[in-house]
Amino acid sequence: MKIIDAHMHLSRIEEFQRTADELSKVEYSVKGLLQEYAQHGVVFGIGMGLAETKAEGFPDAEAHNPMVLDLVDVLPPSIAYCIGINPYQCDEEAWARIELELQKPQAVGLKLYLGYYPFYAFDSVYDRVYELAAKYEVPVVFHCGDTYSERGLLKYAHPLTIDEVAVKHRDVTMMMAHFGDPWVLDGAEVVYKNRNVYADLSGLLVGDSRRFARLDEESPLFFQHLRHAIVYCDRYDKLLFGTDWPLAPIGTYIDFVKTVIPERHHEEVFYHNALQVFPKIRPLVG
Ligand SMILES: [Zn+2]
Repeated sequence: MKIIDAHMHLSRIEEFQRTADELSKVEYSVKGLLQEYAQHGVVFGIGMGLAETKAEGFPDAEAHNPMVLDLVDVLPPSIAYCIGINPYQCDEEAWARIELELQKPQAVGLKLYLGYYPFYAFDSVYDRVYELAAKYEVPVVFHCGDTYSERGLLKYAHPLTIDEVAVKHRDVTMMMAHFGDPWVLDGAEVVYKNRNVYADLSGLLVGDSRRFARLDEESPLFFQHLRHAIVYCDRYDKLLFGTDWPLAPIGTYIDFVKTVIPERHHEEVFYHNALQVFPKIRPLVG
């Protein structure tokens, strides 16, 4: 089975490097990523653009727009990215730079870091994001759910907040990252109810294969909310495989998602749905 990873990272973020070294034990570099991809049949990856400028780390109010994949100088042909937006740095010049970036073939979406930045998806600071998404026919991806930083503010990252922009911007495709975990039942309802909202299944667990195995064996309840939400949603045409690498090894994460998605839907979730959400990747996927 060919696989598309619809959510990973390739940016110089101290916390990602630390997680790679201490928890997931992956080599956090483009070489390390492509090696894991080749080993596990991942033919294409979509990175979420991000940047930090200070030692305090992400979320960073100073980061320059557009935020891209700054861990790599030249993007390999099998990698595309969503342009990360820092709402604190959105003057006219920034919007012009963002629009120019969006014209590059490998810029296939826009990414908002809800919760990491304290603005709701429907805040007027993001109006231009939806305009650009409609104009260039690219999706808007939202961080939703738990923030991987205690400086985040959870209320801005709740999946129910996507409903309002989904209704207001029916012409824009949206992808809720992490299915809104742990509020996955709310996430499921927003995906189920809005024809333009999809969700990725990335980042639901952080760490190496030993941690995955321990949680699954010792604590079957750990994934019960997720299984419940997937079944309730019942829209396997709208869930996308993603890893949030480097937070987990690629092979381990593939095995995990296979355990929560019925086998007859694997082709959709692991490959085809990404082509629907990210039409710009179609000519790039070999
Ligand atoms: Zn992520």
